[in-house]
Amino acid sequence: MIVVKFGGTSVGDAEAIERAASIVLTKRERHPIVVVSAMAGVTNALLAIAEQSARGQLIGAIRSVEGLRERHMQEAERLLGDTEECAELCGEMSAMIDELAHLTEALNTLGDVTPRSLDAIASYGEQLSSQLVVAAFRRCGLPAEHVDARDVMITDDAFTRAEPNVDAISEASQRLLAPLARDGRIPVLGGFIGSTTRHLTTTLGRGGSDYSAALIGAALQTEAIEIWTDVDGMLTADPRVVDGARLLERVGFDEASELASFGAKVLHPMAIYPAVRVGIPVYVLNSRRPEGKGTLITFEAPRRPVTAIAGKSGVTLIRLRTPRMLLTEGFMRTTFDVFHRHRASVDVVATSEVSVSLTIDDASRLDALLPDLRELGDVSIERSRGIVAVVGADLSAGGEHMARALRALSDTPVHMLSLSATGINLTMVVDGEHVAPVMRRLHEEFFGDGALSS
Ligand code: ASP
Ligand code: MG
Repeated sequence: MIVVKFGGTSVGDAEAIERAASIVLTKRERHPIVVVSAMAGVTNALLAIAEQSARGQLIGAIRSVEGLRERHMQEAERLLGDTEECAELCGEMSAMIDELAHLTEALNTLGDVTPRSLDAIASYGEQLSSQLVVAAFRRCGLPAEHVDARDVMITDDAFTRAEPNVDAISEASQRLLAPLARDGRIPVLGGFIGSTTRHLTTTLGRGGSDYSAALIGAALQTEAIEIWTDVDGMLTADPRVVDGARLLERVGFDEASELASFGAKVLHPMAIYPAVRVGIPVYVLNSRRPEGKGTLITFEAPRRPVTAIAGKSGVTLIRLRTPRMLLTEGFMRTTFDVFHRHRASVDVVATSEVSVSLTIDDASRLDALLPDLRELGDVSIERSRGIVAVVGADLSAGGEHMARALRALSDTPVHMLSLSATGINLTMVVDGEHVAPVMRRLHEEFFGDGALSS
């Protein structure tokens, strides 16, 4: 068995759904279980509808609900034509949209949106897309069977970011999904949504469909999980910044996490952790170019010194200097406690005997945090910095790669430098405007045509 998951753009319209069907057709002998996201943009639209109606803008909210009705009906007609199946599907989807409209009105009356009602509303995206995909797959000759995700994805009641109950999911997957798949039928279910044991609808948090796929894969110990999206996979650099970025055919979980923290929006590695952890290979593939190799993510990957070049700007550098740090213990703890109290997440850290420098991504907590920090010593703040990282699995091995990275920086001012002791990244804090040129130089050094083996 394999789990085949299609993201929002891969089921975003009739053509995309047909491409998904042809992908699944080629996998039939591997007994696929299909997990789908809402059609692209639908989850955002639903969350906006909830907010709008609670704010009293019922007319606007209902107009958006009707927009969703139209979009789903239209794609259904494009997929199924003027047929009995189409009429039946449109009837079902229409009934769901009616429910959604009622919920929207209820929120408007209450004038308040709770996490629980937000989940109830957000769940319609996957409820609708999964029905649409089942009908389309059948039309393409695939024996698809709809399974209500809420019967499988059992969670606690932490609405909007529910925790999966792994044992219950495992039991339900064995009972509801495995027999269909083994029998040559193709179970199709929505990702992202689940339910408590008391049948209240929950969601796993944004981007949660990958998480659903991973949980099902882990529960059934499937051969593999395929995440079909609209990019070729993970690359050696962000192609919007660096020309000639190359596909990474295989990355380790650590490296994937490191890259994701730099905003590689391909997928959130934590979402696939349940599967990767138990040794299930996860592939990221492009549904517009199904012949591509994609990126394979595994827990352990072959170690190579340099995997990719990542970067981001809009970083704030904070320097704290104090003689009190000298020869005392507990100073770091006190310092980090300030960040913890203000919920500011620290990214890069470097220290000397009398100073500590660190960066934060989100400067919104800075004003609140500074007075507490100033109690510890002299503080200076540098905004508009950026980070460039050379990500690899064994960067420090041999020393040669470090030397090359530093040489590629040439005369760029570097404000801070950090090499993780695990050799997973070399991080440099530079001026914001230097991020892109430094990324390009490092990419050329390690992956350019003239690059030695990296
Ligand atoms: N539809 C949900 C979202 O947009 C879940 C997903 O697509 O993974 O967050
Ligand atoms: Mg999505």
